[in-house]
Amino acid sequence: MSNLYDAVIIGSGFGGSIPALRLAQNGKKVLVLEQGYRNTENDFRQSWDPKYLVKMNQVIPSDDYAVFYRSGMTLGGGSVVFSGLMNRAPSEVFQFVDFRGYKVWPDAVTRQVMDPYYAMVEQMMSVRQATWDEVPKTGGTFARMMDTMGLTCDRANYPYINCRQCGFCEAGCIYGAKQSLMFNYIPQAEGAGVEFRTGCIAMTILPGPGGYSVQYMDPHSGQTSVQGTVVILAAGAIGSAAILLRSKQYLSQLSPQVGQNFNNNGDLIVGFELPDGWPPFYSYKGRTNAGVMTYAFWDEYRITIHTGSVPPAIFSGLNIHRPGEHAWGPGFKQWTKEIYFSKLIMCVVIGLVTGEGYVYLNNDYPLVHFSPTTPSFTDYVNKVVAVGSSIAKANNAMLLQTRTHGYEYTANHMLGTVRIGDDPALSPADPYGQVRGYPGLFVADSSSIPGGTGVNLSLTTAANAERIAAYIVTTW
Ligand SMILES: Cc1cc2nc3c(=O)[nH]c(=O)nc-3n(C[C@H](O)[C@H](O)[C@H](O)COP(=O)(O)OP(=O)(O)OC[C@H]3O[C@@H](n4cnc5c(N)ncnc54)[C@H](O)[C@@H]3O)c2cc1C
Ligand code: SF4
Repeated sequence: MSNLYDAVIIGSGFGGSIPALRLAQNGKKVLVLEQGYRNTENDFRQSWDPKYLVKMNQVIPSDDYAVFYRSGMTLGGGSVVFSGLMNRAPSEVFQFVDFRGYKVWPDAVTRQVMDPYYAMVEQMMSVRQATWDEVPKTGGTFARMMDTMGLTCDRANYPYINCRQCGFCEAGCIYGAKQSLMFNYIPQAEGAGVEFRTGCIAMTILPGPGGYSVQYMDPHSGQTSVQGTVVILAAGAIGSAAILLRSKQYLSQLSPQVGQNFNNNGDLIVGFELPDGWPPFYSYKGRTNAGVMTYAFWDEYRITIHTGSVPPAIFSGLNIHRPGEHAWGPGFKQWTKEIYFSKLIMCVVIGLVTGEGYVYLNNDYPLVHFSPTTPSFTDYVNKVVAVGSSIAKANNAMLLQTRTHGYEYTANHMLGTVRIGDDPALSPADPYGQVRGYPGLFVADSSSIPGGTGVNLSLTTAANAERIAAYIVTTW
């Protein structure tokens, strides 16, 4: 096996597989190192058993164990275990100025600049707007709640073909309906000559003659290394930062901003208990992501809201309860029976927040520090509660909590730890994802996304990876 490549890419999710294909199509010899293994429809199960899920997911705790950050750990990364909502980020996202006064996206990257790259990903992954027939009743009920307020709610976009609405998108789709990267970029990359080495955990990057050496743990031969003229980090927002932090002794010019600006995309989970009299909709039925999203609060609050179905395992994990009441005991059990079938609407709120957390190493292993009690995040939560309360009031419903005191912030949408940007003092990578001070070392995944995307971030991550790949192809 030769150990010299034009490009070595670490991670096979959106940020890795997309540049892999584009570089190979341009005649480059490309290797992708992926710590997970290849899983296909035959390996997936319709199960929420943690012993099964751990096969394809990585879970990294926050340092206070309050949150467990989840990401895909399999060939294809998050695309294999995500719930598939893929909307473009609104234009205002690219102009966002954080509370420190920093405009996080580089001036060179606007929605107009991103549009052709969004279109490329949508075409490759068969992303399209759901039809109303494909929207589960839960989504339809949330749309009706918006309608009560005179507000709109539209069908969201997904990479699904012939979806059977079984609701196990996050466990891997056994029907092959979800068009993960395993159906498009990865097979095409393999066809173009890309080598995917699975079970390989990248540890450190060292500068070497004509490029970089990547040291990694191989499942067969143990610690070994490969050389790439170009190296692209795509190990996710925690993984890419961790590799750079471990490599600091070899990459002494790395920005102290590496690992900083960790952002959860403003994700918060809220619930609504509907009053009697609504048509039955069975909140556990339908695909994981219930098909609709509202932008009705975007102009005023810079948040979007979408709904999800609630299988029993998710319900029990979410600590859903009425404010002031316990999420346990006989009263809770009785209440659960009453609301579970047709009175419970669960929503994910996403909004623009400043990235205030950080990733750091503890004995070479990454940990995340993220405090949801900073003044700015508290302000954000208060805004979300105000919006949630207005929706509840208009529908005679009750806003439900999802943490003992407050609201669960979801741990699936991490970004920003090796962010691109215009200001060298505040961004470890330049606008094209090149790590400052290290020509040929790039970051192309969610760690490069400099700020919240206002909606789920995979499509923006993928489009940005196309943009960075186009730059690498023309300059290297
Ligand atoms: C349960 C769940 C549901 C989600 N639902 C949605 C959704 O509906 N819509 C949406 O837009 N987003 C969703 N997301 C988020 C989305 O999956 C991520 O934002 C996206 O996958 C990030 O892309 P990425 O390329 O940065 O990283 P990933 O897709 O996470 O890929 C990183 C890859 O790098 C590998 N890796 C990590 N460290 C190493 C290492 N040291 N060596 C080698 N390989 C390594 C990992 O195994 C992984 O395969 C969801 C995420 C989860 C977990
Ligand atoms: S809901 Fe649709 S996309 Fe999700 S796992 Fe079932 S068939 Fe696949």
